[in-house]
Amino acid sequence: MLKINKNYQKIKKNYIFTEISNKKDKYLKENQKAKIIDLGIGDVTLPLGKNLVKVMEKALAEQAHRSTFKGYPPENGYDFLKDQIIKYYKRRNVELNRKDVFVSNGACCDVTNILDLFNKNTTVIANPTYPAYFDSNFLQGNSIILESASVQNDFVLNPKNLNKKSYLIYLCSPNNPTGTVFSKNQLKQWVDFALKTKSIIIFDCAYESFIDDVKLPHFIYEIPGAKNCAVEIASFSKMAGFTNLRCSWTVVPTELKIGNQSLNNMWERRQCTKFNGVPYLVQKGAEYALSEEGFKECKKNIDYYKKNLKMLLKNLKEVGIETYSSQHTPYVWFKCPNKYTSWEFFDILLTQCQIVGIPGVGFGSAGEGFFRFSAFGRRKDIIEACKRLKKAHL
Ligand code: PLP
Repeated sequence: MLKINKNYQKIKKNYIFTEISNKKDKYLKENQKAKIIDLGIGDVTLPLGKNLVKVMEKALAEQAHRSTFKGYPPENGYDFLKDQIIKYYKRRNVELNRKDVFVSNGACCDVTNILDLFNKNTTVIANPTYPAYFDSNFLQGNSIILESASVQNDFVLNPKNLNKKSYLIYLCSPNNPTGTVFSKNQLKQWVDFALKTKSIIIFDCAYESFIDDVKLPHFIYEIPGAKNCAVEIASFSKMAGFTNLRCSWTVVPTELKIGNQSLNNMWERRQCTKFNGVPYLVQKGAEYALSEEGFKECKKNIDYYKKNLKMLLKNLKEVGIETYSSQHTPYVWFKCPNKYTSWEFFDILLTQCQIVGIPGVGFGSAGEGFFRFSAFGRRKDIIEACKRLKKAHL
């Protein structure tokens, strides 16, 4: 008989977002008139910017002519998009070259696929954080150290409790779900630790475009030495509304090595074998989204979501709920009232307010007793959710 990966039997049967969706569907079946407001999964709701769509329409039209038709894209991205990404980093004084940059079809794929470069290590993961890190490391058979981020440490991790060993370290800033952003000093502690211990940081900056304070780092390479110890993964999903179109980038600096082995060469080899590139028209849209003009268009949508965030935070505070999110995130992270567990509060919200959110414990055990709302909803739904929260006696 063939051997299967038995680690699948050890992870939860359903991914957290699937579990929520199943519960929502069950409730709707039993309460067909319910008007549920879904503040659960962090998916964008605003349409793409008009100019961005025009750019992609033009790119699609090129495929209709023999002279401009394109077949397979380059596995690691067209130079026009790589150059635009390089320019985007220059705004934060980070110098990259084309070989460092890999265009891909989603940060979710790359934060998990990057494990192909490694073999059975110990991985440090924040608790709570984006659940794909935990599941993928578990499936790979890695040992996992969960580092709790809680009210006591302002939800900011630091490496001081770790033994001086080599680890894979996942860091997410702004963190999903807590919204915490590392300061330069806090991030420097991790870079220094990784350099000292020959660890590798996998830095997920999928929400960097939500950072509004110029002093806060968007990219790990703003910290000296990071090119020798970090891979960085970014996404167009939340920044430009590409959750459906699928486009992201990963930076594996040519300087990054384990012993004599270049991780850049390994990742290039991996992508060429297992990935066949992102569609031309999507990369054209992504190039536009990172241009000064295109970014302004995207920023309008980001600001809309951030206004939603402010409204949700204000209303939760007004009903006496403790909130912890920063202003640099699309997620509202708050403490469940009356010492409810995360799942108890999920049920209360669903039945009393017909609002769906995500139980904090779904992002790790340290999220127990907390809850996450997504601010990616439509304004009218956010207003209605705020009204319902105020009416309910939570
Ligand atoms: N990383 C984090 C922290 C996320 O929260 C998400 C999606 O919610 C992703 C990555 C996935 O991004 P993408 O849509 O590019 O796969």
